[in-house]
Amino acid sequence: MALLVVLGGGESGVGTAILAQKKGYDVFVSDRGEIKKKYKDVLSHYGIDWEEGKHSEDRVLVAEIVMKSPGIPDMAPLVKKLVQKGIPVVSEIEFASKYTDAKIIGITGSNGKTTTTMLTNHLLQSAGLKVGMAGNIGDSYAKMVAENDFEYYVLEISSFQLDGIIDFQPNIAVITNITPDHLDRYDYKFENYIASKFRIAMNQTETDYLIYDADDEVIVSWLEANPVKSKLMPFSLKKSFKEGTYLEDNKITIRTLIDTITMRTDALALEGQHNVKNTMAAATIAKLVSIRKDTIRECISNFQGAPHRLEKVLKISHVQYINDSKATNVNATYYALDSVKTQTVWIVGGVDKGNDYKALMPLVREKVKAIICLGMDNEKIKETFGNVVDLVVETFAMEEAVKVAYKIAERGETVLLSPACASFDLFENYEDRGNQFKNCVKNL
Ligand code: ADP
Repeated sequence: MALLVVLGGGESGVGTAILAQKKGYDVFVSDRGEIKKKYKDVLSHYGIDWEEGKHSEDRVLVAEIVMKSPGIPDMAPLVKKLVQKGIPVVSEIEFASKYTDAKIIGITGSNGKTTTTMLTNHLLQSAGLKVGMAGNIGDSYAKMVAENDFEYYVLEISSFQLDGIIDFQPNIAVITNITPDHLDRYDYKFENYIASKFRIAMNQTETDYLIYDADDEVIVSWLEANPVKSKLMPFSLKKSFKEGTYLEDNKITIRTLIDTITMRTDALALEGQHNVKNTMAAATIAKLVSIRKDTIRECISNFQGAPHRLEKVLKISHVQYINDSKATNVNATYYALDSVKTQTVWIVGGVDKGNDYKALMPLVREKVKAIICLGMDNEKIKETFGNVVDLVVETFAMEEAVKVAYKIAERGETVLLSPACASFDLFENYEDRGNQFKNCVKNL
């Protein structure tokens, strides 16, 4: 039996192990860290062999094929050895896609992936299609392929997943936008990260679609220099297209060669310019899979957004509290500040992934009356904004941050948690950060 080794015993790793076993592989899961109990239980249930706290090279380097979890960098010595030996190292989406005939919708980009994926899933499900939502969201894609028979998969796909594809070919691909992120994994070269995102279209043919933000200079100039075979469906807030999605008289207009559909933007469930774009992307997908106009219109106005993304928590003493904990980079925070209409007390900070705050300056000058730093190391934020905002306060715990915000914010204003940073210094993850924020607000 051919041996498939899974590196990393998390959601995607364990899912892949289950699928691989079902498809007749001998499977071995190896994790250098600790495997969570729930995953160990699953592996034992299926009788799949695993190890933790190490990678036994004698067992890994004899694999026929290796599935590497997205968290493990290509630079890891073991991965380099595998590549040197000519053993294919693939990602979960590459492996699992071979075992399904479903139509695949792949959504990538620096920001907006989860929102666009969830809205797309909502649209397809409401239209009565059999659809599985996976990728970076929820259950493992591979496990779904092993256990279900869906007509469509809507996949949220990170650049790390795309780095591990060979033949993966989504019928519809989306690139929501590209701004610098995760550069530590790309030799600090933005072009490497852009190239990685565009791998989503590398195996597409003339019958597949690529939906993308045509207002994004990075995407547009990359496409000019590196044409793809896919049929292009651009979306834009500024220009219109013969085929594509755009704004006209405050209406989202989706135009294909055979049909046009319009939707009022004031009926959208999600607020903010960036969400008009996410809605455009998802509605374009819906149109391409021939969902009825009425269903599309209804879905985009009744969609419940994802938590931790510009999530309105409570209004207390006429102050609106907003949880945007998922904003882990500058671009996401840009859209958050852009969407706020009032003076704002801004809670920011955490693990800086090489942030350049320049782009935020005009919005901060215009709207931010006070900054509350919430991180282990707040020097850069204090230095950058110290002369721009009158009040900059340092805090080291959520409760303290929220209490300070409560004191400073006045009637009609907003308290916005939009950290522009990762959360690992003070929190388990962005969900923990967002949940703590919500709890502290509720306890005010
Ligand atoms: P991702 O899955 O790509 O991280 P999310 O939908 O979870 O994207 O949103 C992440 C953050 O980015 C949130 O703070 C959200 O408000 C913001 N955001 C969402 N869509 C966009 C967009 N199209 N452009 C910029 N920022 C966005």
